[in-house]
Amino acid sequence: MNKWYKMKHADMQKFVSALTEKWEVWVPYRIDGKWEFGIYDTGRDLDFPESVIHVSLKNLFFPKRRPIATYDENSKWSLKPVEPEGKPRIVIGLHPCDVAGIEYMDKVFLQSEHKDVMYASERKRTVLIGMLCSEMADNCHCTDRGLTPDATRGMDAAFARITDGYLLKGLTDKGKQVLRSEYLKKVDEVPDKKDWPAGRYVIASPEEFMEMYDDKIWHEMSDICLTCGICTYACPTCVCFLVTDENFKGKGERVTVWDSCQLQSYSRMAGGHNTRKTPASRVRNRTLDKFAYSHLRYGQISCTGCGRCVMVCPLKRSFPQLGARLTERIKDKKKGKSKSGARSKEA
Ligand code: SF4
Ligand code: SF4
Repeated sequence: MNKWYKMKHADMQKFVSALTEKWEVWVPYRIDGKWEFGIYDTGRDLDFPESVIHVSLKNLFFPKRRPIATYDENSKWSLKPVEPEGKPRIVIGLHPCDVAGIEYMDKVFLQSEHKDVMYASERKRTVLIGMLCSEMADNCHCTDRGLTPDATRGMDAAFARITDGYLLKGLTDKGKQVLRSEYLKKVDEVPDKKDWPAGRYVIASPEEFMEMYDDKIWHEMSDICLTCGICTYACPTCVCFLVTDENFKGKGERVTVWDSCQLQSYSRMAGGHNTRKTPASRVRNRTLDKFAYSHLRYGQISCTGCGRCVMVCPLKRSFPQLGARLTERIKDKKKGKSKSGARSKEA
């Protein structure tokens, strides 16, 4: 199935409803004006947004709260690993930046030294049927990050909306199998190609970012960030977590829960010492993690250009904005214009 196939609007609903017989199917839903993924309920009308889905897919593969083992203090030490979920699942309508977020999580949880078996099973059971974006929303900047809104990289199958229906194409064996449907008709049509704008948040190299480690700029930047941490939860590539035990009368669960490096408690150690007590030190950590440390660890920066951080920030800031601002400072320093060249060890 190397060509595009066409499906009428009215048939998409029937096609997706038929999939629910064998699969758990996830699709985007609009709730109070915001888009997020949910399990498809055959009674509801299907629709797909032209661009970014407000809530990222991170929770499907790396849940906010994830039981990893159970224990019972009464029967000595018996920590029983939780069985990973195995039911086959399809996500329909994710966009190129969503796939890029999943690819980044793969590097962290599958391709690094410590493989996460729970994450591996969520990935293995999921087929990704992606949708090409037909526009870039106000905060989108995936084109600054080596992507385009119509990229199909990492998808099992892809589809694009056209005037009288959809064009669909299988890209992997799994994707082609899912698309075997009576509702698809062979056509010569292909999705429109567009020239997409780039250059919204251009950022310096990881090495140049590292040279700014001791710069005073972190104090300025922390004045424009509350370090509330909400952007880390919205970000598809922020994957810090805490392991904790939830105990009730001697029985309980060991769970992982999302954490945020922007919170003061994140770096608190036994005895109360905190290595990142000041907002400046936390803003520095996250900015450098996004644009330098992640590159050193995984060979790519951890930003897909989805723009979700600015959507949720109470001050309408985003870490790509902070990265771009730092990049300006780096350029000024190189030209010898910087007033702040002073170094600060106190961030
Ligand atoms: S950038 Fe905005 S959302 Fe993120 S920690 Fe700072 S104030 Fe909160
Ligand atoms: S830093 Fe912001 S724009 Fe980049 S991936 Fe995270 S939420 Fe998206």
